[in-house]
Amino acid sequence: MKFWNEKFETMPRAEMVKYQNWKLAETVRWVYEKVPFYRNALDAKGLKPEDIKSVEDIKHLPFTVKTDLRDNYPFGLCAVPMKDLARVHASSGTTGKPITGPYTKEDESQWGECMARALWAASVRPDDVVQISYGMGLFTGGLGFLIGAQTLGCCIVPSGSGMTERQLLLMQDFKVDALFCTPTYALTIVERAEQLGIDMKSFPLRAGCFGAEPWTVEMREDIERRMGIKAYEAYGLTEMMGPGVGFSCEHYNIHINEDHIYPEIINPDTLEPLPYGEKGELVFTAIQRRAMPLLRYRTRDITSLREVECGCGRKLVVMDKILGRSDDMVIISGVNVFPSQIESQILEIGSLEPQYLLRVSKKGYLDRLAVEVEAKPDVYAGGAESMARVAKKLESRIHNVIGITVPVTIVPSGTIARSEGKAKRVIDERKLG
Ligand code: ADP
Ligand code: ZN
Repeated sequence: MKFWNEKFETMPRAEMVKYQNWKLAETVRWVYEKVPFYRNALDAKGLKPEDIKSVEDIKHLPFTVKTDLRDNYPFGLCAVPMKDLARVHASSGTTGKPITGPYTKEDESQWGECMARALWAASVRPDDVVQISYGMGLFTGGLGFLIGAQTLGCCIVPSGSGMTERQLLLMQDFKVDALFCTPTYALTIVERAEQLGIDMKSFPLRAGCFGAEPWTVEMREDIERRMGIKAYEAYGLTEMMGPGVGFSCEHYNIHINEDHIYPEIINPDTLEPLPYGEKGELVFTAIQRRAMPLLRYRTRDITSLREVECGCGRKLVVMDKILGRSDDMVIISGVNVFPSQIESQILEIGSLEPQYLLRVSKKGYLDRLAVEVEAKPDVYAGGAESMARVAKKLESRIHNVIGITVPVTIVPSGTIARSEGKAKRVIDERKLG
């Protein structure tokens, strides 16, 4: 069997749209009846649930934003009473107060379905041993992969994140086939292995499924090469269920489970929908969830959608790799800079490590950006001169790509904090003291 769910993953467009129309109308009716917040929002626009007949009509619906979730914390947007909830997760709080993610029993099994599609696409099979090195707890990463691996019927090693040397030991001794963690934790793991003189390429490990934070193609290639695996990815957010919203196939295209989560791209300034191919803010409507289905939720993630004839055979819409979250975007001299743009340049140079920090400060009235990055051992061995040469090289590459001069400092090896979960790439000194 080539797909976990052939029917939905390869559904012809017209049929998919029909299905989405049905599920969207049902969801709008559901939240209008159950959630005063949405009833008021629709009433304020003079909309009745029956006005939303198809996904074409979605543009009339109001948006939901992060502050709506915080203002209605913890269960104000919940459509079912607590007694009907099966579990509650919360966001990792990267950008502030936690956001609650409640599930009914049925929402849980749909999560398992979406994650099973993701793991299947990542070459994981029921006979495999999988190690989950995402944080296991309130964060949706760990338990999201768990429910997916359980749905598939894998042998699960729920190691959680941290204790990196033990992770390596388990992977080797338990003959783990696939590893799940954040891309930066994958880097931390392989770096530790290299320091210990352990060659991960000699492990049975075959695949990784990484996600929960932006990472570049260059970073993926670096991990693939150093671990000797094929690296897939899962994308998702607590507000929509967690991981499993989107997943990559063997062609590295990220397909969206659009029969569950309907995607749009909007211009974040005008809020107008953008056509396929144009970059903007990703907006999702959960069309099958029951506990807390959000309408037109603004993710603040920047990417574009594409309809491609993917060689894998899936017809699910494809999203480009997330450029970054708008919260991590730094504006310098009117230019928008995402950490991922710097990351690509760092990795392309070859003599630098993917361990870096963007430091934003204020100099007079002007904002200033500086990059700190670690180098490979031979750069340090070459002394101050070789370090300065590499720093200049990166400065000129960054200038070519984003058009501004960003000073680069090569910092001593091990200076940048290693991540066991999501990496923090931007230090904003303007917000300190
Ligand atoms: P928090 O906002 O506290 O980090 P979540 O754990 O719900 O809470 O994080 C969801 C966010 O993580 C997404 O909106 C996105 O910014 C990021 N993310 C998740 N998966 C990926 C991925 N594969 N690529 C890029 N970014 C991702
Ligand atoms: Zn594909």
